[in-house]
Amino acid sequence: LQKQVIQSEKLSAVGKLGAGFAHEIRNPLSSIIGLVQLLKENNEHNKYLQIITDELERMKTLVNQFVLLGKPTKLQKTNSDIVQLIRNTVELMNSNARLNKVQMEFVSEETELFVPIDESQVKQVLINFIKNAVEAMPDGGLLLIQLQVNKKEKEFRITIQDEGEGMTQAEVERLGTPFFTTKESGLGMGIPICFDIAKAHNGFINVESAKGRGTSIHLVFPLQNGMRRKN
Ligand code: ADP
Ligand code: MG
Repeated sequence: LQKQVIQSEKLSAVGKLGAGFAHEIRNPLSSIIGLVQLLKENNEHNKYLQIITDELERMKTLVNQFVLLGKPTKLQKTNSDIVQLIRNTVELMNSNARLNKVQMEFVSEETELFVPIDESQVKQVLINFIKNAVEAMPDGGLLLIQLQVNKKEKEFRITIQDEGEGMTQAEVERLGTPFFTTKESGLGMGIPICFDIAKAHNGFINVESAKGRGTSIHLVFPLQNGMRRKN
């Protein structure tokens, strides 16, 4: 099962319609969070107030991310060593992975590779996909990250492969739709943001998944600036 993904038009449509609305929600939300905080300081219903606070914080995160989605992604590109960036990110995520009995492995064709990317945004993409992979393996497993260079196509490819629960074709089709989530406390914002960041780099994301067997995410980015893809 495959899906080639270019940024969905629906994303910007959702963003335009909802950004104003989201801003209007943000202010009352902030005051309610403050008021609940005050109530908590001297109240026997502390347990319930904590639940209210948690749910309100969740709403705030949703609203904030929603506002971000509506904005065009602005990149601050520098010539960065992608090998080092992946290594750092793997290290950052390692304790979380180990807690979930997930073993992370990084295999690279290169010892260093300098490419024009927005480091913090590409790191965000890696973190989102690593998190999803870990969450897809509730009983643990292997999370393999590979870096390959295709000099002929002038592009590099990062593959994030898990042996987790995988997705049905219908689920794969829905990837990129804001708020699509199958998780109880998921936000469904991670993948839309990743698609957006890949598009801004003139790259793309390809998803391969088989229910019950696992998922491979391929991030394909140009090696140089000014590359234009046909698709
Ligand atoms: P969230 O993680 O908050 O649910 P995402 O946008 O990151 O939101 O992912 C959306 C949905 O895509 C997930 O809820 C899950 O159903 C599916 N998904 C993403 N990554 C994977 C994966 N590696 N394995 C299986 N399903 C996945
Ligand atoms: Mg996620």
